[in-house]
Amino acid sequence: MTSAGDRRSAFSAVEATVDDTRRSINRFCARVFRTRGGKIGSGMGSVLEALWGYYSNDRLHRASQSEIELAWFPEHQYHDFACVKPNIEWNPATKRGELFRIEAKSMNEDADESKAHFDVLTDELDPFDTLVLLVWRWKSVDRWRVSPFVIDIFFGPAKPVARLRDELHKARGGSFVDRNSCPDACPPSQCAHHGEPLNKSGTRERTTEPTTRKGPNTSFAANFGGMLRMLKTNSNDARTALRAERQRCDVAHRYISFIHKHFPDEERNHYRAPEWRRLASILQLRTNGTPEQLQRNVRRSPDYPEALRTFS
Ligand SMILES: [Zn+2]
Repeated sequence: MTSAGDRRSAFSAVEATVDDTRRSINRFCARVFRTRGGKIGSGMGSVLEALWGYYSNDRLHRASQSEIELAWFPEHQYHDFACVKPNIEWNPATKRGELFRIEAKSMNEDADESKAHFDVLTDELDPFDTLVLLVWRWKSVDRWRVSPFVIDIFFGPAKPVARLRDELHKARGGSFVDRNSCPDACPPSQCAHHGEPLNKSGTRERTTEPTTRKGPNTSFAANFGGMLRMLKTNSNDARTALRAERQRCDVAHRYISFIHKHFPDEERNHYRAPEWRRLASILQLRTNGTPEQLQRNVRRSPDYPEALRTFS
């Protein structure tokens, strides 16, 4: 059996590989994945996610006294990797031999949004299950050629990010199926749809179920869990929900700060013009200028995300 202490130290051991892993991926890409062009929507993100698993594992093997390794799921499980104990039997069905699971996602900094969705149900996550998010772009390696370059990696527990996503989903008018009032009218004891997200119009957000909640023109809505889209706040309720989670939860704060760091337009759209002035004033910077100018100045201060966290 594995204890919470085992899981916590395994999580920390994998987390400690993140910087080295990023550098190793970039060295490999600059040497091997050199190309003219550099396609967006190329599937390169999936390659980088897999490389993250291999290089992180390589680091773990090289660390002295390493008592864990990363395994790649053999079938169509939601997660990509499992952190397992070496040299004992691993059973993905029963989770025997496993410490925690890892979902790796990637986003191209120059693209609108990754197709990959973080749409696992919150109840399906264990406390140490982890979300890894790579932000990358094509970078020039010589006059003619580019290669993929991983700029930054978010590594954190997945459940608090899922909770942030769920709170924003509800604030947008979305809901979750309750087994006691399932749209498919299944008996509560047999309902397999509990927790499935439905959008404001009642259309299901995932391909799976409930069968009676297909949309009029689409099989499912698929807005749930977009790594960037899930933080969009086009209403006061959504804006309030994001700020409440940002204040309440360190991981949510870290995730929001990470996305806003790499996608500054999202950050600028979330906070209003008077708030950019207020932030500049808190950081003792000049308070006149457009939100774009204020944001650019503010972002030079490393403490600005902490100051934003206090905004409600
Ligand atoms: Zn049901």
